[in-house]
Amino acid sequence: MSENASLQSRRVAAIPRGVATAYPVFAERAENSELWDRDGRRFIDFAGGIAVLNTGHRHPKVIAAVKAQLDAFTHTAFQIVPYEPYIALCEKLNKLAPFKGEAKSILFSTGAEAVENAMKIARAHTGRTNVIAFSGSFHGRTLFTSALTGKVAPYKKKFGPMPAGVWHVPFPVPQDNVTVADSLRAIEYLFRADVDPANVAAIIIEPVQGEGGFHPAPVELLQALRKICDDHGIVLVADEVQTGFARTGKLFGIENSGVEPDLITIAKSLAGGFPLSGVVGKAAIMDAPDPGGLGGTYAGSPIACAAALAVLDVIEEERLLDRSNALGERIKGELGRISQRNDTVPMGFVRGPGAMVAFDVLKGRGGSEPDADATKRVTQAALAEGLVLLSCGVHANTIRILMPLTISDEILAEGMGKLERALVAANG
Ligand code: PMP
Repeated sequence: MSENASLQSRRVAAIPRGVATAYPVFAERAENSELWDRDGRRFIDFAGGIAVLNTGHRHPKVIAAVKAQLDAFTHTAFQIVPYEPYIALCEKLNKLAPFKGEAKSILFSTGAEAVENAMKIARAHTGRTNVIAFSGSFHGRTLFTSALTGKVAPYKKKFGPMPAGVWHVPFPVPQDNVTVADSLRAIEYLFRADVDPANVAAIIIEPVQGEGGFHPAPVELLQALRKICDDHGIVLVADEVQTGFARTGKLFGIENSGVEPDLITIAKSLAGGFPLSGVVGKAAIMDAPDPGGLGGTYAGSPIACAAALAVLDVIEEERLLDRSNALGERIKGELGRISQRNDTVPMGFVRGPGAMVAFDVLKGRGGSEPDADATKRVTQAALAEGLVLLSCGVHANTIRILMPLTISDEILAEGMGKLERALVAANG
C-alpha cells in the first residue's frame, strides 16, 4: 500500500467527515510554489493553502524571522505579558491600510475570528444589533460567521438556529443576471420591510467574493454602500481575508475601488503560513469595546507576528504588487487562448483583479450554464498531472488560481501547461 493510501485509511478512521479534504495526497515537504507528497510525487501548488501563501511556502525571510522568534520566546499571551512584534505589526498595518485618518489594529488567529470581532466592534461602536451580508459570501465557520456566510449547504445545514440579526441581499454576478441595481433595491426593500437602518450596525462585503466564485464587487456597488453607511451611521466592513496582501495587485483588495471602508478583516496571506488574523480600522471605532471585551489566549502569537512582519517586507522588497498584476495579465492571456480551443471543457468568464484570477466551467461553449461535474473532473485531472488546483463558487463550477506570487516564470508556465492538459482530459 502506498504511504498516501495508508494515511488516507487512517484519516478516514480517525477524523470525522465534517472536515472534508480535497485530495488523498499527504504533504511531505514544500518550497515556494512546489510541494511533494509522502510517496515522493512533486506537485505545483496553485492552491497556496487556500490563499495563504502569496509569499510562497517557507519563504527564507519568513522562516528566518520565525526561527529568531522561536529562540527568544514562543508564547506569553499578549493580554498578560505583551511583546513588541505585536505592536510593530499593528503600527505597520495602521500605516499601510487605506484609511485617511488615524487607524488601530488588533490581532487574532483565524479569519473567522477576525470577522467575529469586527462584528463585535461594529455593534459596540453603534450600539445596534443588525448586520447585512451578501448572498454567496463566505465569512467563516464559527456560528456567527456561518450566519453571515451567504450559503446554506454545507455551512448552515444542520447547525441552526443561526444567531439573529443577520440579513442577506443578493451579490451582483453577471453570470447569474444579478445587477448592482438589484442588490441596492434589495437593501431598500430590506430597510422598508424588515430592518430599521437606524438599527443596522454593519454591512460586510468581500471586495472580491472568494469562496463564492471570485466575483469582484463592482465599484458602483461599493460606492453606493459607502453612501448608505454614511447616511445611516452604519459601519462598512471589508472582509479581506482572501483578497488581502497583494493577491489583487493592491495590498488590500478594496484599494482597487478607491472606497474607504471603516473596518478591514485580514488573515490568510498576512503571515505566510502561520495562523494570524486581525481587524484594522478607524481608531474611533476600534476603541469602542471595553478593556477585556476583545482578545484570545493565542491571539497575535509572537511567532505569527514575526512571520507577518517578514511577509510585509517581502511584499515590498520583491515588488509583489507589480508581480501580482503581471502574473494576472499573463494567466488571463493564457486562459483566453486556452478557452479558444475546441477540445477542452467549455470555459468562460475569465476574470479577476491582479492575480486573483478565475474562470467558469460551463455546459456549452459560449453558454453560461454551470457544470459542476466537469469542474470536479478538471481538478482531479489536474492532480493526476501534478497540479494542486482549487474550485469554488456557489455553483461549484469556478476554477480559481492561487499560486504564490513568488512563483518563477518557468514553474508558472509548467503549471499552466498542466492546467491546459487537465482541461482537455476532463472534456467529454
Ligand atoms: N472570510 C473570507 C473572505 C474567507 O475567504 C475565509 C476563509 N476562506 C474566512 C473569512 C474564514 O477564514 P478562516 O478559515 O481562517 O476562519
